[in-house]
Amino acid sequence: MKKILVANRGEIALRIMKTIKRMGIGTVAVYSTIDRNAPHVKFADEAIHIGDNPSNRSYLLGDHIISEAKKLKVDAIHPGYGFLSENAAFAAAVEKNKMIFIGPEAASISMMGDKLAAKKAVKEYNIPMVPGTDKALTDPDKAKALALDIGYPILIKAAAGGGGKGMRVVKKPEDLDEQLKRAISEALSSFGDGSVFIEKYISSPRHIEFQVLADTHGKVLHLFERECSIQRRHQKIVEEAPSAILGSELRAKMGEAAIKVARSCNYRGAGTVEFLMDEDLNFYFLEMNTRLQVEHPVTEYITGLDLVEEQIKIARGEKLNLEQNELNLQGHALELRVYAEDPLHDFLPNMGTLSKYKVPVGEHIRVDDGYEEGMEIPIHYDPMISKLITYGKDRDEAIQNMIQAIDNYIIEGVTTTLSFGKYVCRHHAFQSGNFDTHFIEKHYDTEALKEAFEKEAQVAGLLALKLYLKDRTILRLPNEPQIQ
Ligand code: ADP
Ligand code: ADP
Ligand code: MG
Repeated sequence: MKKILVANRGEIALRIMKTIKRMGIGTVAVYSTIDRNAPHVKFADEAIHIGDNPSNRSYLLGDHIISEAKKLKVDAIHPGYGFLSENAAFAAAVEKNKMIFIGPEAASISMMGDKLAAKKAVKEYNIPMVPGTDKALTDPDKAKALALDIGYPILIKAAAGGGGKGMRVVKKPEDLDEQLKRAISEALSSFGDGSVFIEKYISSPRHIEFQVLADTHGKVLHLFERECSIQRRHQKIVEEAPSAILGSELRAKMGEAAIKVARSCNYRGAGTVEFLMDEDLNFYFLEMNTRLQVEHPVTEYITGLDLVEEQIKIARGEKLNLEQNELNLQGHALELRVYAEDPLHDFLPNMGTLSKYKVPVGEHIRVDDGYEEGMEIPIHYDPMISKLITYGKDRDEAIQNMIQAIDNYIIEGVTTTLSFGKYVCRHHAFQSGNFDTHFIEKHYDTEALKEAFEKEAQVAGLLALKLYLKDRTILRLPNEPQIQ
């Protein structure tokens, strides 16, 4: 493998290329017009302009990307996450054009990309599942009967959904009709597939997922779990590894279940098996993501592995050079997704220009980003600016490092989720490990965040005043009488 094209943008494109370069392999970037000066483009050995800003005219143009890759004699394509990463037709087309797709086979992607097909595949392996329907629903009467069986509240989900989109909670039977209709039409317009199904709505779950790695020689390993329960709009915002509540026995049990899920779809490469866990520590299979996950850095910290390197080695046909019992979980890592969103106003996107941008540096701090000072956050893509990751010998240390790193991360021009991250890290529910996916509803108080802002502004003001007075003292000392 001499040259890899990364069919993505932003932080993940840059992060992937760093590993590719370190491995001595050539890098090719693709970019839309607005991204022409982006760091991932500057970093790559070669770069191709693939179209206009909207993703359906650039980053989603699979055939166009493939034909450009062929012109440049690319050996393999890494899709990152989002965009084409879970597009089975794209994976198949890459291989048909004699290039390597760095990811699983198209058949595994289609199976796991459809949440219903995934459940069907996993069922035979005795993996616990959230009670629900196993077929797509269209008939409201049938849906009503099934929902009563399962018991309210229920969740309507799009079979092809992702990124937290396409889910509707229904609390009582009279709302089902209307919600079902809406869910179907939304699923159709967002995912091009109107299939929806019903799941029991678990009231206070935690989201715990397992990283898996599978080579092409039959070996499947798990790299422990990530806890991703701090979410807004069903999408993760703070993640960590390991989870504060898993003991080694439960970890081993869930890890084995994750490996079985990977085997059920003949998996290859790096993937993630997601579970929900209820208050009694029962776990249920949720879905499998057949790609590199946004929050993979926390796993890299606690295992010492580079997951992109593992993906590339597997794609080259190499054997996994590890045994399950040799894998050691060391220390604790946290990740905060830094989104251009306003945490005081429902996490609404808040695009703009990064008028000031300075990342924190230090031991045990990692920033995966794809922007520089002066750049605009385009409205066309996901509003994530970066991921701030910290490590510590234990959970408390990782949390303290995160708070400090947030304080040293300077972003001006757009409102971000940095302040929310600090709120979470300082909250006793988070610190004690006693939280679930409803952290925001239960514990997030925008007034408290506002107050913290104001207090900090006051402290900053006082500090500035103190410094000013000190400067005045020093500067005027030779000529003037000292001011008391
Ligand atoms: P992860 O699953 O990696 O933890 P997210 O759920 O935030 O993280 O999804 C990662 C990215 O992939 C986001 O940009 C999200 O919008 C996108 N994504 C995931 N699944 C889909 C899908 N089915 N359709 C469109 N975009 C998706
Ligand atoms: P996506 O493909 O969008 O990532 P998931 O099925 O992984 O969808 O669910 C995303 C999040 O939605 C979960 O982490 C959880 O917070 C919530 N969720 C999903 N299913 C359920 C359920 N049955 N009960 C309660 N919450 C759920
Ligand atoms: Mg998910």
